[in-house]
Amino acid sequence: MTHWLQVAVQTPAHSGVAGPLTYRSELPLAAGTLVRVPLGTREVLGIVWEGADQASPGWTEATTRMISGSLEGVAPLSAAWRRLVEFSAGYYQRALGEVALAALPPQLRDLNAVQLARRLKTRARKAEASSAAPQAPSPGSEITPESIALTDQQTLALSQFHSQTGPFLLFGATGSGKTEVYLHAVAELLARDAAAQALVMVPEINLTPQLEARFRARFCALYGEDAVVSLHSGMTNPQRLKSWLAAHSGIARIVLGTRMAVFASMPGLKLIVVDEEHDPSYKQQEGARYSARDLAVYRGRLDGAKVLLGSATPSLESWHHSRPATADEPGGRYVRLAMPGRVGDGGFPKVRRVDMNHQPMKTVFSPPLLDAIRQRIARGEQSMVFLNRRGYAPVLHCADCGWKSECPHCSAFRVFHKIDRTLRCHHCGFTERVPRACPACGNIDIAPLGRGTERLEEHLAELLAGETRPDGTPVRIVRIDADTTKLKGALEAQLAQVHSGEVDVLVGTQMIAKGHDFRRITLVAAINPDGALFSSDFRAPERLFSLLMQSAGRAGRDAGFVAAQQSASEMWIQTFHPKHPLFEALKQHDYPAFAGRELREREVAGMPPFSFQALVRAEARTQEVAQTFLNAASAAAHTELASQPDMDAVLQRVTLYGAVPMSVQRVANVERAQMLIESDSRVALQRFLAAWQDVLRQTRAAPEHKGLIRWAVDVDPLAI
Ligand code: ADP
Ligand code: ZN
Ligand code: ZN
Repeated sequence: MTHWLQVAVQTPAHSGVAGPLTYRSELPLAAGTLVRVPLGTREVLGIVWEGADQASPGWTEATTRMISGSLEGVAPLSAAWRRLVEFSAGYYQRALGEVALAALPPQLRDLNAVQLARRLKTRARKAEASSAAPQAPSPGSEITPESIALTDQQTLALSQFHSQTGPFLLFGATGSGKTEVYLHAVAELLARDAAAQALVMVPEINLTPQLEARFRARFCALYGEDAVVSLHSGMTNPQRLKSWLAAHSGIARIVLGTRMAVFASMPGLKLIVVDEEHDPSYKQQEGARYSARDLAVYRGRLDGAKVLLGSATPSLESWHHSRPATADEPGGRYVRLAMPGRVGDGGFPKVRRVDMNHQPMKTVFSPPLLDAIRQRIARGEQSMVFLNRRGYAPVLHCADCGWKSECPHCSAFRVFHKIDRTLRCHHCGFTERVPRACPACGNIDIAPLGRGTERLEEHLAELLAGETRPDGTPVRIVRIDADTTKLKGALEAQLAQVHSGEVDVLVGTQMIAKGHDFRRITLVAAINPDGALFSSDFRAPERLFSLLMQSAGRAGRDAGFVAAQQSASEMWIQTFHPKHPLFEALKQHDYPAFAGRELREREVAGMPPFSFQALVRAEARTQEVAQTFLNAASAAAHTELASQPDMDAVLQRVTLYGAVPMSVQRVANVERAQMLIESDSRVALQRFLAAWQDVLRQTRAAPEHKGLIRWAVDVDPLAI
């Protein structure tokens, strides 16, 4: 008998095929089953989306193809998982098959049924072998082997977490013990429910090893070595498949991962933790541009799992969603849990602002900051100095003729890297040796303008030459940024140096500001943070504030260590705007004051979270082609859609702005333009975007737009 199946397969973006394709099968297959199907001349992986016993009109044996086979041994993906994928595809305006297949480990796509069966058999044998070892919690063993006594704030947060349904925003200062709260929430869940699984997400791959170690130490003795798995893009394909299968089969009780892990198949999912929920890395920046944080909240509802977002500086969206009720207005949808104090009553670092208006021109390290660093070195304490720009200098410049090191392929300057004497474009990667003389006029005196971390490190080494540590050995400075950590294992090695106390001063980009649990740092300095105060990106202050709070959080984490030293921990800010309210709030460690002010401004200006946005981006050989396409699609929206039922009302609530060049308008010889779409209603924006897809495709197909290379929609964009 013939069974008809709707199968999700990876179809090219904008092919117009948004939904699953129809195939035939001799056997009935449950929805969620993984299958291999012919597509064009290839055989590809697909997911049975729905089965149908009866053929719809138009399905005939002549017009549909037979599936090639199913992947036996892998249980069907759950209905909740499929709903999550459907929602993501719809919300972020991508094809269902694209999102569904991208959510699976790459190797699953490449293995045929026989290879996969072999993989599964090896797994099963191993699982059997390890289950023979004693693994079940022995009677009397504690849920938390370390048995840390919780602080009052942790206890309160956990009891609120247990007694309510959430979603929760854990607003906990850096060092307040948020991770401990996650560990307890997970421990309690796993102990209560033998089939339950927890998903714990962190923003960066760098942060997973540290977290994994903590979770392994806590849970592997109780639930076995396979109980904790990681899932992130830094893993090899076989590792990813292994973790995915462990999660999918329910053997893994805890999955730790980066944003991609939000799509992990977890049949027993009961808890989702999103640590550092404000972090921009949760937003995917290509393909389906999803927000893993937002999807986590949605997924929680689908799976009936509790969702716990945590941050010391929540996104303004989450802060707004967790606002308490007032006399006149109901509160937000999230439950806010607060842990304002640091574990052990360690104080927060004192924030010191250096007014750079009173320093000599071109000062890089102000004398008081330099003094403070010297004192730290003499006492064997560590300092951390950061600057958000890597390389030696952002531009190379000829003072005679005005030549600058522009990238020939981008509207950007190439960055001078002194270590290998190259000029490198950070947008397209174009790299050349530094010219001996000005390419335009031959002047041999070309000089770096501005500074990046490489130059900062060099300069600091000169300033600190001759300083010695308590044991009389010379001062040691190390730099950590994307350039020094390119090699595998380099970052770990450098971090280990910091932890072991070998290093006195750590110079780096924001990479060092996030998450790391450094114990001996008592001074953190932001060398030049002013840029973000007056940026055209309305989210820049929010990012700066959280970066500075996070960085301050690196100092004085170990109250015992600090108490034993003479110096209090400090956060130094060198700025030309010391009275700026952002720095005032930072000085008070007052995130709520900062957030309240920003939210009031956004409300007045009609910005998110009080409005909803999407961007359409277009790329073409010329700026004109890109902009013309966007403006044509915008004009067509009104002419084409107005006649559709209810669209009038939708169109009235949606504003389409004119096309403009992107801030870096040319990258690798491709011109880029964008158009902002805004609405006061998320539903209206969604309805508009869904209907507009066809218009965009039709516009693209018109002969006058054939110069267009590609276009894409970004819903809830983070940078505008
Ligand atoms: P956060 O994630 O909020 O910055 P962590 O969870 O990393 O903070 O905790 C900071 C430090 O305090 C860690 O070293 C952690 O082991 C320790 N810690 C957390 N909770 C407790 C507690 N209840 N008692 C003692 N130490 C704790
Ligand atoms: Zn010149
Ligand atoms: Zn370039």
